[in-house]
Amino acid sequence: MAKIKAPVQKNEIVTLDIQDLSYQGLGVGKIDQYTIFVDDALTGETVEARINKVTSHFAFGSTINRLTTSPDRAEIRDKAYTQTGISPLQHLAYPAQLKFKQQQIKNLYEKANLNIEVKPTIGMHDPLGYRNKAIVPVKLVDDVIQTGFFRQRSHDLLPIENFLIQDPQIDAAIIVVRDALRRNHVKPYDETTGTGSIRNIMVRRGYYSHEMMIVLVSRTEKINELDKIVHQIQQKVPEAVSIMVNINPKNTNVVLGDEMRLLWGQDHISDTLLDLTFEISAESFYQVNPTQAERLYEKALEVADIQPTDIAIDAYSGIGTISLALARQAKQVYGVEIVPQAVEDAKHNAEINGISNVEFFADKAEDYMQKLATEDKTIDLLTVDPPRKGLAPEFIDAVGKLKPKKMVYISCNPATLARDIKLLEEFGYEAHETQPVDMFPMTTHIESVTRLTLK
Ligand code: SAH
Repeated sequence: MAKIKAPVQKNEIVTLDIQDLSYQGLGVGKIDQYTIFVDDALTGETVEARINKVTSHFAFGSTINRLTTSPDRAEIRDKAYTQTGISPLQHLAYPAQLKFKQQQIKNLYEKANLNIEVKPTIGMHDPLGYRNKAIVPVKLVDDVIQTGFFRQRSHDLLPIENFLIQDPQIDAAIIVVRDALRRNHVKPYDETTGTGSIRNIMVRRGYYSHEMMIVLVSRTEKINELDKIVHQIQQKVPEAVSIMVNINPKNTNVVLGDEMRLLWGQDHISDTLLDLTFEISAESFYQVNPTQAERLYEKALEVADIQPTDIAIDAYSGIGTISLALARQAKQVYGVEIVPQAVEDAKHNAEINGISNVEFFADKAEDYMQKLATEDKTIDLLTVDPPRKGLAPEFIDAVGKLKPKKMVYISCNPATLARDIKLLEEFGYEAHETQPVDMFPMTTHIESVTRLTLK
């Protein structure tokens, strides 16, 4: 991008026609070729915006006055949901959110010169209260213990009781824990002085089982009146089956520390997904939108076109959700996952579901694939479900050697998906269609399933 002199200054007020919505959900306005990203502004709207930040390539602004209104605009429930990033798309009507996500993938494909059909996004009937897991920070605000969310790019805690997209039972449990901390005069962690104990509260709830796990994340082992707190949680959250403490003494934004201790009950919760039972530990990844995860996995299984003779690899297998679903129809499944506790969960989950044609390995997916490639194994089907950064180049190299006929790519980041498909094409793969499934309504996150075959 050529450096140009910014046509705006900080604090200036400009009138902009919004031409597009960025992947972060910001309105895109232009002055000549210069881009201005504006919050709370939708495509087709004309707004007056105050400029907050200016760089040589683009600027950021906030809408102070809307001159025209998009038919896709939804009423904002609370500004806090935008300020904290909990729901950056709350001002966009849900059907338009689904179109936005489909279009984002189309745009990335077009940019990458990929000609792949992108289907309409599969949405939810009720796109609120879906999250089965919450991690909320705890902080003193004006000398009172509060739970809520940080304003974006800051450490200012906005107290919040209704988190909009979380299971309401989880919100209620967080209030119980917060009140127990208040009653017992616990000192929340203060990152500026490095003192205090409680940093975060993590809660997970089984969608079908209603089992709840509550994890107190603390800087210190010792927490004031811990026994009383645990007792009070037990009394007031009848669904709780597990209360744990995680010790994280580091000055970091990473939530969980290495040490996890059971305070009461069991060290996991159970839930069901596609009629399979899963036990889930605190450290293991588990899809946060359980009903949409079922839609996503159904789609993945459908396009995998599984044959009873198939040997399959499920890479980035977590607690084995996809692996076990595949194993019901395939001959043999190998799952590979980097988090040892998740692999333990996966092995155990195979056992409790009576599934024996599956094996799990604790390894980096790229290393495991490289090893298999040197052994000249025959693989018919490969499913991948990587984190946002997508597949490692060594992983794709190994795919090129192993040459599975069928591949299913589950992606939570269309930018790395497009990049990886480009690379897979060089090894003779063809991507047929992409099905977005809305796992994260009200947010800008985009999940999708893509079917690929070897030409
Ligand atoms: N398929 C599972 C998990 C998907 S999330 C499900 O749907 O529930 C992605 C998973 O990849 C996480 O469990 C994460 O721990 C794991 N992971 C991240 N990097 C990895 C790597 N390099 N190799 C193997 N697994 C990895």
